[in-house]
Amino acid sequence: MKSRYIFLAILVFFLIFVRIGPDKQPLSQWIKSTSSHHQQQNGHAADDSHAVAHWSYDGEGGPAHWGSLSEGNTLCDAGKKQSPVDLPVTEGACLLPALILPEAPMVLARHYGSVPVNIINNGHTIQLDGNQGGYITLDGLRYDLLQIHFHSPSEHTVGGKSYPLEAHMVHKSAEGGLAVVGVLMEEGAENAFLKPMWQGLPAKADQHFIQKDATLDINALLPGDETFLTLSGSLTTPPCSEDVRWLVMNTPVTLSAQQVKQFATLHPGSNRPVQPLNGRAVFVNQAGTLWMVK
Ligand SMILES: [Zn+2]
Repeated sequence: MKSRYIFLAILVFFLIFVRIGPDKQPLSQWIKSTSSHHQQQNGHAADDSHAVAHWSYDGEGGPAHWGSLSEGNTLCDAGKKQSPVDLPVTEGACLLPALILPEAPMVLARHYGSVPVNIINNGHTIQLDGNQGGYITLDGLRYDLLQIHFHSPSEHTVGGKSYPLEAHMVHKSAEGGLAVVGVLMEEGAENAFLKPMWQGLPAKADQHFIQKDATLDINALLPGDETFLTLSGSLTTPPCSEDVRWLVMNTPVTLSAQQVKQFATLHPGSNRPVQPLNGRAVFVNQAGTLWMVK
C-alpha cells in the first residue's frame, strides 16, 4: 500500500515537472507540439507544427506579426528572399536568354503517379497527402512529393493580378532541400482534379476526409503548357525558412466559381501578402531554356 503512495507521488512530481519544464508551455500544448513534430518534414504548411505561435492570416497572429511570434520565425521579418512575390507577366514580354549561368534549374522532369483521396483540414488550409505520389527532378536531383495544399486568393500575383486559388505542391530532396510547384487557378470550367476532394472538404480543423478507392492523378493538376517561372524564395507560412526553390507554372488552370466558394468559405484570405524581390532574378523556363523577362 505504501509503495503505491510513493509511486503516485513520483507520478505527480513528474507531471508537475513536465508542465513547468524548460519550455514553460502548458501541458496540453507540449503534447500537441510533440505529437506533431513529424509534420515538420512536410515543410511548407507544416510550419504550424511549431505550434508555438498561434499564427493566422489576420489580427494579432497575422503576417505582420509572424516574425515576432517566435524566435524561430525571425526570417519572416528579416529574410531577404521571402515568398510569395509578384511575378512578371511573360505574355507579350521580351524574353532575353539568361546568359549568366544562374542557379535556376534548366531541366524539370516530372514523374508523378496517383494518390488516394486523403485530405486534412489543418486549420490553415486543406492538405492532400502526396506521399507515394511521385517526384520531380531538377537538373537530375530528385525531390519527392510530400503534400499539396491550397491558398485563397493566390499568394503569388502576376503583374499585380491575383487569382482566386493557388495550389502548392511541396517536394523535398533526400538532402532536405525544398522545391514547391505553384499552380495558379482562375475561374472557369470545373476542375476535375479538385472534384473528388471538394466533395468531402472537412469543415473543421484536424478533420480528415479519406477515400482510398478514389485516386487522384497528380499530373491532372498541372496545365498542359510546361513553361514555369522560377526563383529562390521561402515558405509562405512561419517559420518562413528560405532557400526554397519555387517553380510557378506560367499558365493557370481553371476551377468553377462554386469550387472557389467552397474553399474560400473554409479558409478565406489564406494568403500571405507579396514580399519584396530584393534584387532576386525571376527566370522563365521554357522547354528547358532559361530566359529573363525584360
Ligand atoms: Zn502554400
